[in-house]
Amino acid sequence: MSKKFQNYVSGTWVDAKSGKVFENRNPAHWDTVLGTFPLSGKEDVDEAVRAARRAFESWRLVPAPKRGDIMRAVGDIMTRRKEELALQMTREMGKVLLETRGDVQEGIDTAYYAASEGRRLFGHTVPSELPNKFNMAVRMPVGVAAIITPWNFPMAIPTWKIFPALVSGNTVVFKPASDTPATATALVEILVEAGVPPGVVNIVHGGGSEVGMALVEHPDIDLISFTGSTSVGKKISEVASKTLKRVSLELGGKNAQIVMDDANLDLALEGVLWGAFGTTGQRCTATSRLIIHEPVYDKFLSMVVDKSKKMRLGDGSDEGVDVGPCVNENQRKTVDSYVQIGRSEGAKVVAGGTIASGNGLSKGWFYEPTVLADVTQEMRVAKEEIFGPVLSVIKVRSLDEAIAVSNNTMYGLSSSIYTQDINNAYRAIRDLKAGITYVNAPTIGAEAHMPFGGVKETGNGHREGGWTVYDFFTEWKTVYVDYSGKLQRAQIDNS
Ligand code: NAP
Ligand code: MG
Repeated sequence: MSKKFQNYVSGTWVDAKSGKVFENRNPAHWDTVLGTFPLSGKEDVDEAVRAARRAFESWRLVPAPKRGDIMRAVGDIMTRRKEELALQMTREMGKVLLETRGDVQEGIDTAYYAASEGRRLFGHTVPSELPNKFNMAVRMPVGVAAIITPWNFPMAIPTWKIFPALVSGNTVVFKPASDTPATATALVEILVEAGVPPGVVNIVHGGGSEVGMALVEHPDIDLISFTGSTSVGKKISEVASKTLKRVSLELGGKNAQIVMDDANLDLALEGVLWGAFGTTGQRCTATSRLIIHEPVYDKFLSMVVDKSKKMRLGDGSDEGVDVGPCVNENQRKTVDSYVQIGRSEGAKVVAGGTIASGNGLSKGWFYEPTVLADVTQEMRVAKEEIFGPVLSVIKVRSLDEAIAVSNNTMYGLSSSIYTQDINNAYRAIRDLKAGITYVNAPTIGAEAHMPFGGVKETGNGHREGGWTVYDFFTEWKTVYVDYSGKLQRAQIDNS
């Protein structure tokens, strides 16, 4: 018997009003049902938003350091439950245990950062242009936040959004990805255990176009923090503009690692394998393109091919497995269709290129780690996000060409260059059009206390992580205190 999960609304665990449910299965063993979850609708969203709106009136008055103390307790509970949460996440979405532990750790780091931010939330004091007058700008909570998240970082991404939202004094309605509802439920259980009052955090499970869109359209939602695909992000932006909601969008990527002829090739090899095939290539920051400088193209390509073929596919909870399955059947179909597109465009499949078969793999959504060589920048496999274990390799003749190729995409999330020449490194830092640039490190590896986000169609200019996310979750209130005892007119009495 699989476990039955529920929504959490106004401090109570409840079923969807319709009574309908959906199943969640293990992508490494698709015949294993992990649980059933409420298939909610607009009526469940309405109730959750009402609860969050009511709770906002008292939560906003709780001193921020006290809200931060709750986040510290959250971090402590997550630390205690780390191994169990990681195992559940591997079963739910497939990435290897090493990585799901990292995903939980990112949540822990974010909790402790949020705890300390409760004692900062700095504003500004600024001199007045008039005598006997005091000027300041302080941060205020915004209201009710809708949090809509993807399945590839099922703990880390919700924590990046929910913890700063709460410390800032907002209340939350959380709609997690349908592929990872159990991890999301565990996060809510932890928040409740740590002392978040009823109504402050609510979770409503269900489909994107039903539950997600109902939140986006809802007149009583003030903020939307969304991470997911660029196509859904655009739709959200369009619909939310009708009610002038504040919207933060973290969307797709087509990230490239550049390898120059002076690079340490062994280091670059480790980087590209981790970047391209970690999380089965299903990261917004995954290394999807490898741009190699001509003098080392043949040598480095054969190093990559050799190692890719040796990567071990399997259930992410087994020791020694390097690459887990794709998250679901659709995702694997997309990956396979892009490999066919690459072939027809003239790319050479030099590793992988097929659905994986073999011992223990027949009931999972496995795909061989795939390398496409002789890719040119016009090909679709060089431009479009694949979101799977596929690396497109492109040859370039110079640093300028490498940077131009790296920039030749509608996305702008992460970028990387391997070089030992400091001049190359700094030119790349200046000229790569991306929110993140790594030097001598792969395109993945964000740290929780640093700004995270991208340019171009990767987002709409906001940043998560570190101190920057607090700009999204707070509203500036400008305060003037006149203690002169008389009317003082700015721009008039002091001119
Ligand atoms: P997705 O299909 O866009 O879904 C993301 C979330 O939005 C899910 O919770 C989904 O619900 C919901 N949703 C779907 N349609 C919706 C709609 N019409 N209105 C409101 N909500 C809707 O993305 P995904 O496949 O889960 O994740 C992969 C994508 O996320 C990739 O493009 C990846 O690059 C991007 N990503 C970006 C970042 C970043 O920080 N830039 C990080 C991670 C992932 P359901 O699950 O119920 O469909
Ligand atoms: Mg699943």
